[in-house]
Amino acid sequence: MSAITQAASVLLTRGSNLPELLVVRRAESLRFFGGYHAFPGGKVVAEDEDVPVWSGPTPGRDARIACAARELFEETGVLLARRLDGSFPLDTNPWKERPRLLDDTLRFDDFLSTHRLRLHAADFLLAGSLITPEFSAVRFDTAFYVATLPPGQQADIWPGELDAGFWTTPDALLARWTRGECLVSPPTVSLLELLRGRPATDLPSLLAPVIRALAADAIPPIYFAPAVQMIPLKTIGLPQSTYTNAYLVGSEKLYLLDPGAHEEREQGRLFDLLDARLREAPAFEAVVLTHHHPDHIGAAAAVASRYRVPVFAHRRTVELLKGRVQVDRTLDAGDRLELGTAPDGSGPWHLEAAWTPGHAGGHLVFYEAHYRLLFAGDMVSMLSSVVIVPPDGDLTLYLESLRRLRGFDCRMLLPGHGAPTVRPKQVIDDALAHRAKREEQLLAALREGGPHTIADLASRLYRDLPAGLMPLAALQVWAGLEKLLREGKAARVGTVDPDTTDRHLWVAVACGERPA
Ligand SMILES: [Zn+2]
Repeated sequence: MSAITQAASVLLTRGSNLPELLVVRRAESLRFFGGYHAFPGGKVVAEDEDVPVWSGPTPGRDARIACAARELFEETGVLLARRLDGSFPLDTNPWKERPRLLDDTLRFDDFLSTHRLRLHAADFLLAGSLITPEFSAVRFDTAFYVATLPPGQQADIWPGELDAGFWTTPDALLARWTRGECLVSPPTVSLLELLRGRPATDLPSLLAPVIRALAADAIPPIYFAPAVQMIPLKTIGLPQSTYTNAYLVGSEKLYLLDPGAHEEREQGRLFDLLDARLREAPAFEAVVLTHHHPDHIGAAAAVASRYRVPVFAHRRTVELLKGRVQVDRTLDAGDRLELGTAPDGSGPWHLEAAWTPGHAGGHLVFYEAHYRLLFAGDMVSMLSSVVIVPPDGDLTLYLESLRRLRGFDCRMLLPGHGAPTVRPKQVIDDALAHRAKREEQLLAALREGGPHTIADLASRLYRDLPAGLMPLAALQVWAGLEKLLREGKAARVGTVDPDTTDRHLWVAVACGERPA
């Protein structure tokens, strides 16, 4: 499990009738929600612990309020600190020091005391804390505060970690998001949905039931795109991918992609979510499988029988699942799953299947053209490199399929493991480069002495890998050797142990040479 970092975020409001909120756009380069709209905020740093926060006659310490105030000032220039007479500063003097706070040459508590300014807890209304779900490699426990823009102050976003900021209402920003005009981080989407037509000061009471449900282990509402709910489920899998993302796509017609949960308890969490969604009366059309691996199909049969829906998959997947999951319809490249009217009312939208063999012989990905989404299954993993297990797995085909994925006009790639990415081409290029490097290393190891067993090659190539992961490394080497064999760059000589995958000795073949 990854460590959880404390963080704070501010919903800054202005105006009284229909209050607006300050929303910022995070720079593309940021690792966490780069390119997404969110509320200002950031992680707690050590010096936040030293900042006095006043809630009575004597100051106390509240690192998250200090963090909220510091991040808000650094990111937007809005200063939620009061003078000794209780008024907020209007003068420009403190603003001159903003760059020094940004580059960490000035401490926030020194800055405040120089200007005789105090943070008051009453200026920060705590709405509640949300923790990044466990599937994510980067996790935050973020306290969300509601605050009001002090009179006379203005927000001023400087290019850096953020590249834009603007005032908007929940309805206006959600409408833009629903039209596919911008990215909004999933927690921000959830908060904006709660705040539609409600004053921001209601947020603590609106958020409380959500926090209670999450504490009772409900699946969080994660929307990276409109009408696309990401559902990370605990699955039986390889290390680093003990979660597999199912996706519930559609608002009028629902398709559930890859429900992988195997355990009854985890399936129960999924059923609770589906029951709640189906109360809104959309039509549940089918369970759709990208491929046959256990961490993608664990709940397929259970969902199909509970909700009386068919299962769709590629014909190769049908063969491999025989006796385990009954597939009712085969899908092939170009087949469409109609989703009804798009969430913005602009017309029909659909998923289109593409056949991408390699990781699995029957692997399908699904492209959605309205928001330019690619449901990539296990073609790309955001957590580790994708494992290819021969003979169903085929590295040559996998690389061909991966290059084909690069050609999709895709804004967001939604993988089976890890968080969606808005830099799909970069991620695919990195994966291709990594494979090319591994192949070079494999050829170099083959040429050194030999003949070699697969285990021997794996231990040379993956020197620093924990022993428990070695069998996986051996599978990667095997997949690489099969590719080199097909290309005439490697050959099998002799037999070691006919009952295991490591049954042959392998040698490199120089150009045009035939092994003895
Ligand atoms: Zn897989």
